[in-house]
Amino acid sequence: APAAPTTHDTAALTVLKKVWGYDAFRGVQADIVRTVAGGGNALVLMPTGGGKSLCYQVPSLLRPGVGIIVSPLIALMKDQVDTLRALGVRAAFLNSTLSLDGVREVESALLSGELDLLYVAPERLLLPRTLDLLDRAPVALFAVDEAHCVSQWGHDFRPEYQGLNVLPDRYPHIPRLALTATADDRTRADILSVLQLGGAPQFISSFDRPNIQYRVANKEGPKTQLLDFINAEHRGDAGIVYCLSRKSVEETARWLQTQGVDAVAYHAGLPPRERNSAQERFLNEEGLVVVATVAFGMGIDKPNVRFVAHLDLPKSMEGYYQETGRAGRDGLPSTAWMVYGLADVVNVRRMLASSDAPEEVKRVEAAKLDALLTYCEAATCRRQVLLSYFGEELGAPCGNCDTCLNPPGVRDATREAQMALSAVIRTGNRFGAAHLTDVLMGHATERVVSLGHHQLPTFAVGAAHDEKYWRGLLRQLVSLGYLAAGEHHGLSATGKARAILKGEQTLALREDTLAPRPSKRDRDR
Ligand code: ADP
Ligand code: ZN
Repeated sequence: APAAPTTHDTAALTVLKKVWGYDAFRGVQADIVRTVAGGGNALVLMPTGGGKSLCYQVPSLLRPGVGIIVSPLIALMKDQVDTLRALGVRAAFLNSTLSLDGVREVESALLSGELDLLYVAPERLLLPRTLDLLDRAPVALFAVDEAHCVSQWGHDFRPEYQGLNVLPDRYPHIPRLALTATADDRTRADILSVLQLGGAPQFISSFDRPNIQYRVANKEGPKTQLLDFINAEHRGDAGIVYCLSRKSVEETARWLQTQGVDAVAYHAGLPPRERNSAQERFLNEEGLVVVATVAFGMGIDKPNVRFVAHLDLPKSMEGYYQETGRAGRDGLPSTAWMVYGLADVVNVRRMLASSDAPEEVKRVEAAKLDALLTYCEAATCRRQVLLSYFGEELGAPCGNCDTCLNPPGVRDATREAQMALSAVIRTGNRFGAAHLTDVLMGHATERVVSLGHHQLPTFAVGAAHDEKYWRGLLRQLVSLGYLAAGEHHGLSATGKARAILKGEQTLALREDTLAPRPSKRDRDR
């Protein structure tokens, strides 16, 4: 538990007001600041835009010495430092963009105690030269930003981050603060282990963004669908449209322009001048639509983005949450709108499969994509599905997503769900959808027979439905939390499943996703 309120609290509020001009901390910020300013360690899990920066900036100013901020986002450091300097904070950064003279200047400022905050890239921090320096400098705290980068399970693994285990070993008495906007259980465990934060308090904020309305539709004519959406609801609003490829970014931007929408393209292949100007215009103009790849948005803090549209499927739930999270930071009603189709699934899968990542990482990524697909196909409140992925339970349906506002046609599938759950349990809670489908449909494949699964009572109980039906049903059981997806795509029944098996609860599943689909996905699997 956080330390009891102390006189630190008054000092913290004074700094908050004097430097930033803010009257109060938001949510858990006050507890975090109190803990770290008092010399304690902490883990902070807060969604993007939640206000993580102040959690280390304020304690850095309250404690003697310099706060060292480890961040992988070199491109943002200069902006962050400029912003702080404008507020009168003595801030600097150390990364590969500095000249040797620039480095020397920062180093001497550090040693002579002339800095409040120092941003460092992890690979720079781990250099013997930097560590030597830190041995001699007064250090107030270490803040590890984007801490999920330590984990191979994360979507953004950076090997240098694992080297940060030097911090607890070499500086055991200096407070360590790990911050991230994305961390499932495994990622969180990795952060705790690398930074040795086992006994430290964990500050976990809600990921809910109630002012964002979530909507997902079948992709039919994406450009027309997008235009209709903008014209009907967001004419003249600032928005971001995400596409997977540079080519579709350019085509879509050009097309929107011909349709009278003020749009500009942004992707990493454009000349820096064009990219900067797109970014500047987006920040400074009222109603510009940026059509972009995921390269756009990191670190962009524009409060009045009224919609984020996905013309292609993001790669993971984390990606989707982060990208849609750029809408409505001002708290006003905003829309997260997406269309997706079978081709998207095929594309994203192919991209994952052809990456150079280790097999283990690829498997995790595939599971994250599956989670996103179950979200897309949910018949229940999307916000409940989204938040449950991040380990959070929303008591009642939100009333502000498409499935709440226009409930999809559903049919009772309790009996089929019982069949599927019992197949999962009787085969030992470890097989994937393909094998379970074989068992349910009565396919005596070599594998089924060699495992003796053709002798189970559940063998062939589901022969009346086809393969797509069972896949759709299994996917939906995962999305609703009756099945958990584990390693190797293995599915296991959760505690929630018992009520269905015992007939105490019925299950209605949406009709449109249970209907037969074209066979392209099958070939891709
Ligand atoms: P994160 O790093 O979690 O994405 P930031 O630290 O960049 O979020 O904060 C997001 C925005 O919220 C910033 O514009 C910041 O100034 C503002 N903010 C954070 N905390 C407060 C507060 N206590 N009072 C007012 N504004 C705040
Ligand atoms: Zn809802």
